Amino acid sequence: MNVTIVGGGFGGVKAALELAKDSKNHITLISDKPDFQYYPALYGTATGRSHLQSWVPLGTIFAGKNNIEVIIDAVKSIDPVAKKLTSETGNDYHYERLIMALGSVTTYFGIEGLDDFAYGIKSYDEIKRLKHHLYQAIAEEHEVEKQYVVIGGGPTGIELAASMGEYIKRLCDHHNVRHGRVKVTLLEAMPRLLPKMSEKTSAKVKERLEKIGVTVRLNEKVESASADGLMVGGKPLRSHTIIWTSGVANHPFFAANAEHFEFAKNHKVIVDEYLRAKHGIHVIGDNAATPFSGLAQTALRDALFVARNLRRHKAGKRPKKYRPVMPVIAIPVGDDWAVFEWHGIKLYGWPAVLLRRAADLVGYHDILPLGQALGQWRAQTIVEDDYFTPTPHKKK
Ligand SMILES: Cc1cc2nc3c(=O)[nH]c(=O)nc-3n(C[C@H](O)[C@H](O)[C@H](O)COP(=O)(O)OP(=O)(O)OC[C@H]3O[C@@H](n4cnc5c(N)ncnc54)[C@H](O)[C@@H]3O)c2cc1C
Repeated sequence: MNVTIVGGGFGGVKAALELAKDSKNHITLISDKPDFQYYPALYGTATGRSHLQSWVPLGTIFAGKNNIEVIIDAVKSIDPVAKKLTSETGNDYHYERLIMALGSVTTYFGIEGLDDFAYGIKSYDEIKRLKHHLYQAIAEEHEVEKQYVVIGGGPTGIELAASMGEYIKRLCDHHNVRHGRVKVTLLEAMPRLLPKMSEKTSAKVKERLEKIGVTVRLNEKVESASADGLMVGGKPLRSHTIIWTSGVANHPFFAANAEHFEFAKNHKVIVDEYLRAKHGIHVIGDNAATPFSGLAQTALRDALFVARNLRRHKAGKRPKKYRPVMPVIAIPVGDDWAVFEWHGIKLYGWPAVLLRRAADLVGYHDILPLGQALGQWRAQTIVEDDYFTPTPHKKK
């Protein structure tokens, strides 16, 4: 069976690994980047922990898998009748069976100035830009901001805001810059943090953030951004370091090829009980309108589900129907405190930290053999020497 997979993230990589177990399958994986990105660790890399935890070359993941061919190219359009994908560079790729796992992109909800003046932490380039900015201000100009602003009271905003203060202090100490108390402000437009989790958890997280010195401002809608800061609720908020973690939208590939797909209200692709969109194209992970889409665990699960069904199909067996499973949520708030929620079970503090560490090890092991997964996982505790550039591994 020949299967083409688009996207080298959680969904795409897991589907390729599962399909490759049958040596008679030939898998072509097309991705616009040569690395797999472990998103859950990006906030750590952005705040001075090792870059090794956040990126793994696709070549390392697929080493020894002779039936997986990796092509680095950005797919732009699809012709489902001719079964053909076309890339931004004009290359055509014909497919027999197709799995799409392109992930999400950042959106600023049309808020003026954010695109130009806010920093992000969703990719290597974004993190490099943020670190460069912090390095320039602290190491070269010896300036500490009056306040560092993180926008978005979801998991990423909370993880980042909780680690930011300590990182800035470390940077200052490293470059002999006086700092005093470093002010980090977290802005959230909703009346509470983590609106998808329980009210008890929202309150506990807010309390914890405030305890470690983060100012939490709820019901605060950002109206615009400029070089000097933000307008929030009609009032200026001065800062040269604004980090946007708030909005994600479905990958623009689907809107650009809208005639071939159907969409749910959240602009994700409608899929059937076998995770198939129109024309029999499998759509998984963040792109699919499933109940728990938007989480790595869902993308991994979707990938296993589709790959196993394709293998069942090949063996002449009936495909299984998709059953959404509620993922485990574990969010670190600083190094030694976390929240954990799953099916009504709520844990706070060290037990949740340990569960999150365990979840990360499982996450790395989902795509790497245990030895390598342990190496990636241990990197989470390493503080990066070079504060300026989180130089990733040498590209092959
Ligand atoms: C900062 C951050 C932190 C997160 N933390 C957590 C967490 O703690 N727990 C959790 O469960 N989830 C977390 N998530 C969400 C999780 O990372 C996503 O749900 C998951 O990555 C979705 O997997 P995917 O395969 O659908 O997409 P992705 O993993 O995003 O993979 C998409 C792939 O497609 C490639 N691609 C994009 N455009 C093209 C193109 N045009 N052509 C070819 N290839 C292309 C990309 O380079 C990438 O390799 C986090 C997300 C972010 C941004």
